[in-house]
Amino acid sequence: MSEEKSLNFIEEIVEGDIAEGKHGGRVLTRFPPEPNGYLHIGHAKSICLNFGLAQRYGGKTNLRFDDTNPVKEDVEYVDSIKEDVKWLGFDWAEELYASDYFDKLYDLAVELIKQGLAYVDDSSAEEIAVQKGTPTEPGVGNEYRNRSVEENLQLFADMKAGKYPDGAKVLRAKLDLASPNMHLRDPLMYRIKHAHHHRTGDAWCIYPMYDFAHGQSDAIEEITHSICTVEFIPHRPLYEWFIEKLNLFPSKQYEFARLNLNYTVMSKRKLLQLVTDGHVDGWDDPRMPTISGLRRRGYTPASIREFCERIGVAKRENMIDVGLLEFCIREDLNKTAWRRMAVLDPVKLVITNYEEGKTDAFQGENNPEVEGGDGSREFPFGREIWIEREDFMEVPAKKYFRLSIGGMVRLKNAYIIKGESVVKDADGNITEIHCTYIPESKSGNDTSGINVKGTIHWVSVEHGKTAEVRLYDRLFQVEDPSNEDGDFKDYINPNSLQVLTTAYIEPDLANAKIGTPVQFMRKGYFTLDKNSTADKLVFNRTVTLKDGWVKK
Ligand code: ATP
Ligand code: MG
Repeated sequence: MSEEKSLNFIEEIVEGDIAEGKHGGRVLTRFPPEPNGYLHIGHAKSICLNFGLAQRYGGKTNLRFDDTNPVKEDVEYVDSIKEDVKWLGFDWAEELYASDYFDKLYDLAVELIKQGLAYVDDSSAEEIAVQKGTPTEPGVGNEYRNRSVEENLQLFADMKAGKYPDGAKVLRAKLDLASPNMHLRDPLMYRIKHAHHHRTGDAWCIYPMYDFAHGQSDAIEEITHSICTVEFIPHRPLYEWFIEKLNLFPSKQYEFARLNLNYTVMSKRKLLQLVTDGHVDGWDDPRMPTISGLRRRGYTPASIREFCERIGVAKRENMIDVGLLEFCIREDLNKTAWRRMAVLDPVKLVITNYEEGKTDAFQGENNPEVEGGDGSREFPFGREIWIEREDFMEVPAKKYFRLSIGGMVRLKNAYIIKGESVVKDADGNITEIHCTYIPESKSGNDTSGINVKGTIHWVSVEHGKTAEVRLYDRLFQVEDPSNEDGDFKDYINPNSLQVLTTAYIEPDLANAKIGTPVQFMRKGYFTLDKNSTADKLVFNRTVTLKDGWVKK
């Protein structure tokens, strides 16, 4: 991110406003999640944009929970959202709730009724839908539209007092039933819902609709730039109409393209289905595109912020390849993750000319990518070691440079070995590989004069620890499961999780910590999972390595 980037269109707007001295040059944005699910990578884009603008222009950002729909919302979600925003590296100025404004919003609705700009409608949802017309046909009014101000005031007070059941009445803005914009055809402002709210309890049985709550909340907080996604463009005239009629602080709405990422779904409704139907292990399953899932998978805040920076902010929607996200985490971990050895699919190798009972220790750099080094660690060596099954072929294929009978390979940071023979079980599976080592070939002090093309990783049988390793693939088999025929869940990848129960890791990895990434050499970047116990370590693969160092 060192090179100077040109401004995105929202930054241009903000700079223009500052130059004009609008709001005294003040910048106040907000991030307004509805607490009805966990945040996902799409939200990260909005978070980086809103908080990023404030940081760049000396402003502030509020965290506002848009909690106007009591049925789907929960404190569990509120807590997770706060945790995720903090983890991404952002501090909000104030933690606010739309529900804190319920009294004010009610008063504003009364104000509109008094102006003759809102009325109580007894029609059912179906009747209202029909009366609204279609994009090509204007809507028609009904008898309720002509109710007097006094009657509306009384009925709205009665709605609030709980005199009517759910759905019996709504409050609507009296706007324009013939507008080409359907959102302006007398949109709903309030509905009756006898439901317990996670913050206001049973104080209210009427709840404001998004269109009435959102803009007014912005205005109450004196938000200068209210940034949302493009599907809200048709709502903008309504946003402005309420603010104008109520003579409120002139917050302005700006829209940017939402993030779409391939091979996943991002709507909270769909993510919730994956959780409740048991397709994944909770909202933080490492395959989920949620912030908590990415965190558990081993993504870092810096990599997610870098991703959001790279995708940029535009007005046109497109589909971003998940490969870009993987690129960002690889780049980050390459610089920070310590290198260790782990054998995921082990087969035993016996070095027959190495003295029984003898052990040795070798040195390996923690991270050769760090200039000046990042320290090193010691790891033990012995007569028996684990290697990857795929690193041995009895009869080598063409261009196979790893171990084979008669073939030579280097054990990383140790000796060159030569394959001699194999031991097989009754089914013909190899249970042991026997080889010899070249004593003069010790890494760092190799006088053997032998050149080998391959290097493989290994773990000492005597000293290695056991671990479970979880490898992940895309959660869906198609790029855009929401846009396929039938249910999006029909496209779930049945092989998105592979569990390797008996991997061997070098002893130092017993000290692995959640949140500290590690590179298993040649196998990818990994992180300790929360399911780990002292007896059983569990590692998640964050991402594979693009190029294994074995390929010369
Ligand atoms: P979903 O459709 O996933 O349920 P939402 O838009 O209903 O998401 P909110 O909690 O209302 O979720 O979103 C909070 C903020 O995050 C909003 O400003 C919204 O525009 C933004 N946002 C949500 N999804 C994306 C996305 N995919 N890309 C960018 N911004 C997003
Ligand atoms: Mg929403």
